[in-house]
Amino acid sequence: MDRIYSYINEHSQRFIDELATFVKQPSISSQGIGIEDCATLLTQMMEEVGIGYEVMPMGGDTNPPLIYGELSSPGASKTLLVYGHYDVQPPEPLDAWDSPPFEPTIRNGRMYGRGTADNKGQMFAHLKAVEAILKTGGTLPVNLKFMFDPEEEIGSPNLDRFIRTTGDKFKADIGFYSDGPIHPSGRPKVSFGNRGMCYVEINHREAGRDVHSGHYAEALPNPNWRMIRFLNGLKDDNGRVTIEGFYDDVLPVTDAEKAVLAEIPFNEKASLDDLKVKRFNITDDVSFWETTTLVPSLNIAGYASGYGGEGAKTIIPCKTRVKIDMRLVKNQDPVDIFEKFKRHMETEGFGDFDLKMLGCCGPRRTPLDNPDAPAFIEAARKVHGKEPVVLPSGGGTVPLAFFDDYLNVPLIAIPYGNPDEMNHAPNENFDLDLFIKGIKTSATLFYELSRI
Ligand SMILES: [Zn+2]
Repeated sequence: MDRIYSYINEHSQRFIDELATFVKQPSISSQGIGIEDCATLLTQMMEEVGIGYEVMPMGGDTNPPLIYGELSSPGASKTLLVYGHYDVQPPEPLDAWDSPPFEPTIRNGRMYGRGTADNKGQMFAHLKAVEAILKTGGTLPVNLKFMFDPEEEIGSPNLDRFIRTTGDKFKADIGFYSDGPIHPSGRPKVSFGNRGMCYVEINHREAGRDVHSGHYAEALPNPNWRMIRFLNGLKDDNGRVTIEGFYDDVLPVTDAEKAVLAEIPFNEKASLDDLKVKRFNITDDVSFWETTTLVPSLNIAGYASGYGGEGAKTIIPCKTRVKIDMRLVKNQDPVDIFEKFKRHMETEGFGDFDLKMLGCCGPRRTPLDNPDAPAFIEAARKVHGKEPVVLPSGGGTVPLAFFDDYLNVPLIAIPYGNPDEMNHAPNENFDLDLFIKGIKTSATLFYELSRI
């Protein structure tokens, strides 16, 4: 590995310059800006490294190009599928940036620009790891496949369907991606999954328009009373969701998972102070990390009705709207949860509410005892010289459930970003030391995997 690490150190400035070229090319999926041009640039960068590529139009309304790459190695027995995305979030609000979002600028050892960390810098690290191995006379210890998504930032609306029809191409023994930050303590992080999501919106209307409350109050139904009664019945006094069957498919948390969760640093007092709250809804049995990663949630994300501005206004609102997100854990099916939610609404007497599903994404989790898992942990440990924080599942949602559901490729992530990467926000940035460490981690991972 020393020869490879030296090569990466010697060429680090060029790698940074190349990353700047990549960032300079806008690729804003939600606005349809620059995706095709960025795809072309990416394929050139893959070609330079020696990775065979294929541009795969995904169909759908916009027919965006998924970039597939493949590099087989004679003698390698294991195949690793690397996922990344080359689209970025919109840069707005532009005046909040200290330097323009698509003019990458280096300040204090960080590159600032939209997509530096999310996800261009992190996915680019994998390509440069391949270069470092091949240019130092090595042969790749594993076969590599790459899947570069053109629309992750808008929830990958075409990916699931596309993979279902082209799945065989992506068959691999194990999957890998880098997105998000390392642990705030400065330790590297290895993540084995993500929660899924079922997002619903409920609309309920009574009158055709808002009316004077002095003229009609008590005579005219206010839609909020029934909505509040419905919402109030969604959880019992202990905070358990009352929807019949909501927890049916949830797998029990194993002792091994509990042990790993207990190792994750958590400064409860600092978190409480930071959030300015007195306590978390956690118990001695179910810890903060278990609650936020391995237990499903039901959250009221928004409520809109009537007058919420300054001062008083006396009306009976004619309509009310609620948004609810449910984070789901391994083995729960978001469509099934939606059906159960609907049935609950009907049996409780609120079947006239207008319910729709705004978002749907399955959960995903690779078992901690996956035989390849030690390679990921060891790669992160070796490069950082620190013990990695192991997460059985992240609390958030990533649209990669198809890896579990029908690709049958277990997926493990090692994020390379800095905790203050400001992804999705103005002044997004990538710590360049972590970028270089990321290249080394990817290269190390390829070798560690080949030893298993
Ligand atoms: Zn993102």
